[in-house]
Amino acid sequence: MADFKGNKSYLPSKPCAVCGRTMTWRKAWAKNWESVRYCSTACRQHKSTTPPNRCA
Ligand SMILES: [Zn+2]
Repeated sequence: MADFKGNKSYLPSKPCAVCGRTMTWRKAWAKNWESVRYCSTACRQHKSTTPPNRCA
């Protein structure tokens, strides 16, 4: 507990569901941090635009 200096500077973080990059809490995400899963729009689209089988 003594190591804990400054709650204020602590920002939550979690890995992006697509690229695994650590996302650090942003003010823009304050409202929906719980539902944020991707670090960027690109990752979000990557998730939903990945074709099941598109080998051609
Ligand atoms: Zn990502």
